[in-house]
Amino acid sequence: MKKSNVFSNETAIKCSVCGKDLMLDPEMSLINIVQNMDTQKIISVKPCCKGRCDDIIQRSVKAREVSGWKDLTDFLNPYLYIKHIASVFNSTYTGAGFENQEAFEDYKKLILSTYPYVARDITEEEKNAAIWDDAMPF
Ligand SMILES: [Zn+2]
Repeated sequence: MKKSNVFSNETAIKCSVCGKDLMLDPEMSLINIVQNMDTQKIISVKPCCKGRCDDIIQRSVKAREVSGWKDLTDFLNPYLYIKHIASVFNSTYTGAGFENQEAFEDYKKLILSTYPYVARDITEEEKNAAIWDDAMPF
């Protein structure tokens, strides 16, 4: 799968159970998302292999929690990628959002690591603008 040059550092998407690089087989990978049934807040965001690794994550789900999933390939699809982010923005605005910092950081890591697969290549002019912007305090 084509990856843009938007980031210069490599960001692997690893199974949170066995550590496999999920981009070796994205069709057999998913994102397990656990939510609090009462608050609708996201408790955890765990990329993993379909099957055994997902089963292990699902076994850790507690009472009043619900485990759902999205295919990893959904986050490699430009339309579904931004649709999911907009949905999380909406739930954050209404007060749901994330129940803990780890879930927030894991979601952010997922979004950053899948972004090169939905983004176009960056031009030299844009690269220079990014260097200039990175030097600014905000
Ligand atoms: Zn795995």
